[in-house]
Amino acid sequence: MRPETLYPLFRPIGALKGVGPRFALLLERLTGPHVVDLLWHLPISVIDRRFAPKIAEAPAGQVATLTVRVDGHAPPVLPRQPYKVHCTDETGVLDLVFFHARAESLLRQLPVGQKVVVSGKVERFHDTPQMTHPDAIAPVEARDQVETVEPVYPLTTGLTPRTLRRAIRAALESTPELPEWLDPAYQRRKGWPDWRTALRTVHTPENTDALSPTTAARQRLAFDELLANQVALALLRLSQRRQPGRVIAGDGQLRRLVRAALPFQLTACQEQALGEINQDMADERRMLRLLQGDVGSGKTIVALLAMLNAVECGHQAVLMAPTELLARQHLQSLAPLAASAGLEVASLSGRDKGKTRAATLDRLATGEIRLLVGTHALFQDDVTFADLGLVVIDEQHRFGVHQRLQLSTKGQAVDVLVMSATPIPRTLTMTAYGDLEVSRLGEKPPGRRPIDTRTIALDRLDEVIAAIQRRITDGAQVYWVCPLVDESEVVDLAAATERYAILKDRLGDRVGLVHGRMKGPDKDASMTAFAEGQLDLLVATTVIEVGVNVPNATVMVVEHAERFGLAQLHQLRGRIGRGDQASTCLLLYEGPLNETAKARLRILRETEDGFQIAEEDLRLRGAGELLGTRQSGLPGFRLADLAEHSELLAAARDDAHLIIDRDPALETPRGQALRTLLYLFERDAAARYLRSG
Ligand code: ADP
Ligand code: MG
Repeated sequence: MRPETLYPLFRPIGALKGVGPRFALLLERLTGPHVVDLLWHLPISVIDRRFAPKIAEAPAGQVATLTVRVDGHAPPVLPRQPYKVHCTDETGVLDLVFFHARAESLLRQLPVGQKVVVSGKVERFHDTPQMTHPDAIAPVEARDQVETVEPVYPLTTGLTPRTLRRAIRAALESTPELPEWLDPAYQRRKGWPDWRTALRTVHTPENTDALSPTTAARQRLAFDELLANQVALALLRLSQRRQPGRVIAGDGQLRRLVRAALPFQLTACQEQALGEINQDMADERRMLRLLQGDVGSGKTIVALLAMLNAVECGHQAVLMAPTELLARQHLQSLAPLAASAGLEVASLSGRDKGKTRAATLDRLATGEIRLLVGTHALFQDDVTFADLGLVVIDEQHRFGVHQRLQLSTKGQAVDVLVMSATPIPRTLTMTAYGDLEVSRLGEKPPGRRPIDTRTIALDRLDEVIAAIQRRITDGAQVYWVCPLVDESEVVDLAAATERYAILKDRLGDRVGLVHGRMKGPDKDASMTAFAEGQLDLLVATTVIEVGVNVPNATVMVVEHAERFGLAQLHQLRGRIGRGDQASTCLLLYEGPLNETAKARLRILRETEDGFQIAEEDLRLRGAGELLGTRQSGLPGFRLADLAEHSELLAAARDDAHLIIDRDPALETPRGQALRTLLYLFERDAAARYLRSG
């Protein structure tokens, strides 16, 4: 249960004093539903209102706070004219300018004959200094409240800076004092303030330097967030390991048959990964391992051999894919290999209904099915196994920790192997998969031809289409990936449909379309037609990103490549270069590109090493942007910036491991404080393992 001290922070934003329902809605959309979400909304710049010159000394274009006397009001004579208020000080005159003004309220705020304080940007209009819509107007007595440094926050339409600041101030005021969860020696060494002071400090920056991610206050908050993440993962790992596993060490008979039937030798890194997996499976504890490998690095065969190890011991093994399409491809590639060991591979997806489904469930429950490939349909309650020994999850970033847990309850202490094709930097691996051991397939199987990657300005589209036409005449198949417009499928779809129409017009009937909104069978029909060579060109939204395999496809065009994440482009590009033909990838961009965008596309031209690409992307853009975080399934951080705080992450991980070693139930005073930390960052699920574990 969430500790009571945190209740004030987990009230809805609307419960704050001075935040009405309309603003509450806007704020929620901007930051999140709870008061605590406002605290995590950090300023991105500052406005210094301490500059308080005389009117004559106020430079145009600069923010100043002026003390002036109100001389008179000049309401508009014609419609659309502004309302002006004439003011003076001993050095000159200043006009305050208001559009769509309400005279009543202006007369109240700016009574004639009174001295007032106004703050805002000073401009010159026909040589007269003026200030349009001052940011602040106050009586002279309240001058101290105006002459401050003001934090500037990211906004959303309909929300004024003042409303947002007021809400954040109210949130800060309702912030409780919390027990210290940092290791005192570490905190002292770093010179970090306590949590509440740190929060106040980051929300009251004195100057732009105070916005740097390296200030003591920002570092502290970032560390808190990373520590919560790492403690949560450490607890998860602990609770998973506590469930005793089984010793799975087959006699190798089935594996020998499959290996003998392979037309190639496993690479050294495949062998090494298998060695690690076999060791984990043979251990009494459960296996929780991540097999990380670029597209085409040969994860499938590794997975199959692990599955056969389980089958040799009389257990069942399943491979779970994130989409129907991928599940089918896995089935197609596994089935012939398994057949060489005399085994059948069954499948189960959301599309299986009625009798077929019932029959499959039955054969699963009796244990007749040894190898199964499926989608998340495997999560459903009526799916039971006779004796599930190994679950392989082909993750592609579409599942999360929770699904991992859900499935592993399907068997007694099943071993879990997670496969990820998204090369992510080491730091991110740590935050997303800190509960897993990692095997990496760093080197690709031999014999691949490098992909010729080129960047081309979008205004040369006609030339591109002509070149594509020539390639098609020569027998190539082409993927045409449409721009990610705004990560909204509807809008993306419109762009894809339009491009489809144009290409069909230019290239003829052998042009297909596949997108995320298509019904399963339609999608499959398009994909199958392409895979079987009935289509020359396939226009696609990013649905093809995930593991589709068509070796004859040797050309890929990506429109608006600058809008994609590098990792995503890299994954898309992995769809080609799968056969023995030379492949070409054309990245079309809309110029002009800024330096970062240029550098990013350059990396893709220069290397095909996904891990290198990922590290560079992190360096260039920061973690937030890295994978289009929303769809990536990676934990999003509000306070930590992995490009800036990777050292803190390593420290947080070490700290978390130490804590969980010494105080696995979080019972010491520091442990108790860490429980609060977990709830503060909404790692409630992790905190719950404590009770049950
Ligand atoms: P991933 O799942 O990692 O994207 P796959 O397992 O689909 O990659 O492998 C890509 C291709 O490489 C497949 O056609 C597979 O048969 C082939 N392959 C796998 N391992 C090797 C190897 N050691 N030598 C040659 N080819 C291999
Ligand atoms: Mg085991």
